Amino acid sequence: MLRTTSMGRTFMQSRPTKYIFVTGGVVSSIGKGLSTAIIGSLLEARGLKVTAVKLDPYINVDPGTMSPFQHGEVFVTDDGAETDLDLGHYARFIGTKMSKLNNFTSGKVYETVIANERRGDYLGGTVQVIPHITDEIKRRILLAAQGFDICLVEIGGTVGDIESLPFLEAIRQMRAEVGSENVLYIHVTLVPYITAANEFKTKPTQHSVKELTGYGILPSIIICRSEQKMDQPLKKKISLFCNVDQDCVINAVDVSTIYELPLILHSEGLDQRIVEKLNIWTGTPNLKPWHRIVETIAEPKNGSVTLAMVGKYVDLTESYKSLSEALHHGGFANDCNVNIVYIDSEEIEKQGFEQLIARETDGYGIDAILIPGGFGSRGSEGKVTAARYAREHNIPYFGICLGLQMAVIEFARNIAGIKNATSGEFDPDSKEAVIDLMESQRKVRDKGGSMRLGAYPCVVTKDTLTHSIYKKTDISERHRHRFEFNNDFREKLEKAGLTIAGTSPNNELVEIIELPDHPWFIGVQFHPEFSSTPRDPHPLFTSFVEASLGHRKKRLSDDENSEEQRLRVVKNKK
Ligand code: GLN
Repeated sequence: MLRTTSMGRTFMQSRPTKYIFVTGGVVSSIGKGLSTAIIGSLLEARGLKVTAVKLDPYINVDPGTMSPFQHGEVFVTDDGAETDLDLGHYARFIGTKMSKLNNFTSGKVYETVIANERRGDYLGGTVQVIPHITDEIKRRILLAAQGFDICLVEIGGTVGDIESLPFLEAIRQMRAEVGSENVLYIHVTLVPYITAANEFKTKPTQHSVKELTGYGILPSIIICRSEQKMDQPLKKKISLFCNVDQDCVINAVDVSTIYELPLILHSEGLDQRIVEKLNIWTGTPNLKPWHRIVETIAEPKNGSVTLAMVGKYVDLTESYKSLSEALHHGGFANDCNVNIVYIDSEEIEKQGFEQLIARETDGYGIDAILIPGGFGSRGSEGKVTAARYAREHNIPYFGICLGLQMAVIEFARNIAGIKNATSGEFDPDSKEAVIDLMESQRKVRDKGGSMRLGAYPCVVTKDTLTHSIYKKTDISERHRHRFEFNNDFREKLEKAGLTIAGTSPNNELVEIIELPDHPWFIGVQFHPEFSSTPRDPHPLFTSFVEASLGHRKKRLSDDENSEEQRLRVVKNKK
């Protein structure tokens, strides 16, 4: 079939792509991203080819320059885009690889339109939000959707925000453009339970649907988030006031694990309603993998392990979203649960590592230590202390990006005798910067999009622990950093016993380090967490959790109450 868009582009399609637009109302952080990802997983489980796009209303060209306090995690794609953390949800629930096409912001849209205008592309026309901005939004959606049966499009923000108006207008226009039979609008809202009145309140949902309708968008399905299960009369009320079929009021009740959501939303009939509305013929979805994962979480045969994640943004666990999920995936592969105790590295500097761990775990202790990626010198000495503790006490250690850099600094100071070893990031004038900027990074002036970003090949050294984990030599992993292992110190550090377990193919960049006389001590310059999924856990996380189980067994074997200890779930006290 030949299809021509309003902008005159013509493309071939075997069967038309169906578009599902997901908007949110009432409050932010309502779980639109997760809902979009779950819809994708259910449709994929029915054999459809699915992709998902996130439209962010803010003016930043991408979230790469935003603080984790503002934005949470920045998810990196293979092709080097710094994207919204919702792409991490998509990547974990949908098999399709995310790329730079899957996320764009108002800033990016305006950047393109303004560049077009400067080139003279609009030939004397007045450049306006409608049609120029909305056309560019639609162009980007159509581009991302090419080749897919289903393209989910999530609109960031909440309906009623001034910022997101051009996006809403663009998705309204798309209905006429691609055909009403190929478009479905889903609205995600919150249905609060007011304890004093002892009842659910549907008014906020009614108002936000009314607002959306005012923009010309009529949702066909409403996903209602609620703390407790909603009953039929309540669904009937929402159906009546919001003009949707009663069986299209879907209740997304709070769950203890997000991996249960595909099962819950399927039992609410969500995917069935979607395929009916879009007139798609599919079989019933294969949800076995999700059942298996939920069973493991409910009754893990190997109990649980407790890991200390030592970082700076510990009050904001959204900054480590992919990482904490990847650790849970490692748990699924080992039939155990993973408790993550978030440790503020600045507190290590103040209180001492052992004391802090004892306090944070009520004396239980930890089975492994992980230092995630990060930026800036704040709390760095605490991280060095944590890396040292792991090395000296034979505790499994996993250093990711900054975590590798911290381990190298610690080793340089305390084993290789480079007393003032540091990173050029913390002290640009240091003569002992074992981690430093490459020449190419010294010339960088613009902060945005200028780090080493995206997937790079790496050659894993044979006869290393890392090689036994990957079971291959050639790997590719995603990066997001400026600083690198400084080759001026490579020989000295290797002589002192540091193993270089992986490098770039030309051997110029150190990508992986290991300590040979240690049960499990690995640092990687890249971010394996971005490619881990619940159905396909990354091997490094699987192996790390396995090593943590080994350490738990060793440290609790003399304990009379070891069985009780083994099964105990340590709650982070924060
Ligand atoms: N700040 C370090 C760098 O830029 C590490 C970055 C990271 O951990 N992602 O190299």
